[in-house]
Amino acid sequence: MALVVQKYGGTSVGSIERIKNVAQRVVATKNLGNQVVVVLSAMSGETDRLIGLANEINPEHSRREHDVLVASGEQVSISLLAMAIESLGEKAISFLGSQVSIKTDSDHSRARIKAIDNERITEALTSDHIVVVAGFQGVDADGNITTLGRGGSDTSAVAVAAVLEADVCEIYTDVDGVYTTDPNICSKARKLDKISYDEMLELASLGAKVLQNRSVEFAQKYGIPIHVRSSFSDLEGTIVCKEDESMEKAVVSGVAHNKNEAKVTIRGIPDHPGIAASIFSLIADEGIVVDMIIQNTSAEGLTDLTFTVPKPDYDHALNSLEKINKEIEARDINGDKDIAKVSIVGIGMRTHANVAGRMFAALARENINIMMISTSEIKVSCVIVEKYTELAVRVLHHEFGLANKDTKDESSR
Ligand code: ASP
Ligand code: MG
Repeated sequence: MALVVQKYGGTSVGSIERIKNVAQRVVATKNLGNQVVVVLSAMSGETDRLIGLANEINPEHSRREHDVLVASGEQVSISLLAMAIESLGEKAISFLGSQVSIKTDSDHSRARIKAIDNERITEALTSDHIVVVAGFQGVDADGNITTLGRGGSDTSAVAVAAVLEADVCEIYTDVDGVYTTDPNICSKARKLDKISYDEMLELASLGAKVLQNRSVEFAQKYGIPIHVRSSFSDLEGTIVCKEDESMEKAVVSGVAHNKNEAKVTIRGIPDHPGIAASIFSLIADEGIVVDMIIQNTSAEGLTDLTFTVPKPDYDHALNSLEKINKEIEARDINGDKDIAKVSIVGIGMRTHANVAGRMFAALARENINIMMISTSEIKVSCVIVEKYTELAVRVLHHEFGLANKDTKDESSR
């Protein structure tokens, strides 16, 4: 008998019809002789609706009350699913995070899971129940309800799978796996059978919104393979797991893009110790998360800094910098919102030469100018003009032979 943890996202439980469909899948899994624990998101749109209500009643509401409110979405979906399972003649029991002691720290709305008590879940499984656990929520040491950040039920599912030592953690979503790139942009995008944790982390942070990043970190730490698949089909999805040799054969596994960043440039600042520290501690104090940073070598004691911030924080970042300009004495502070970041990711880069060069050449052939570059061991990112994003993604997808296996003519040059 295997222990299976299945997580269904908001779209998969977005209507009564869909909840019934999930109930059928869950019961079918149990009928194959498995023990089943289901972790759910709120019905699609519900978390956004609740956040809207909170902002309407008091935009300055406390984070504690925020969590009390938004955690309620999952209470609805878990009880409805349990009822749907009952109607199919199986025993089901739903639990809130606090009822199965999903213990977190007290960092409301982005809490981290510290421990889970598996006793109650195990007891229910032993008495032949299908167990339905609310994702996204937990409880802190003082008994306050906490939530794990948007998309947090992925992390709940992986954490539950880890403490139960489940055989598999299946994440059901509205796409049938992880693709080589966004299929909406590139019709030749191909579903990957397997991808390593490290690649998935890079792709997720680059804006391929399939899994919450933290869930992948968690899975990696505890060695839990994640099977990402669709709740609307029976197709095998993508396994996110430890890297193996076969994965290194591909130079690049995926092309990601992110249009949600803007760049800020500070020109002519004195090049002396402490200047970057004061700029970036200011930005951090304003709660703005910086992604890429580039500093030029200085000329005549002056240097330039360019960095990217989330688009919604762009104006805020510029205003804050203007305020400290007396201190940093920049000649000029400006920026650009019409940018995008395109990235190639692959653990094969560690063993193949000139991957970055091929990327730059492919963009150059299309006359796409590169404004910023950053690299990690398994990633190269370029900032370009936003309107070329789609073109860049397609060109890179082609350059690295990622196209659908059925379209071989496209897959190599
Ligand atoms: N319901 C939460 C959200 O919308 C958690 C999740 O769906 O994973 O972010
Ligand atoms: Mg989600």
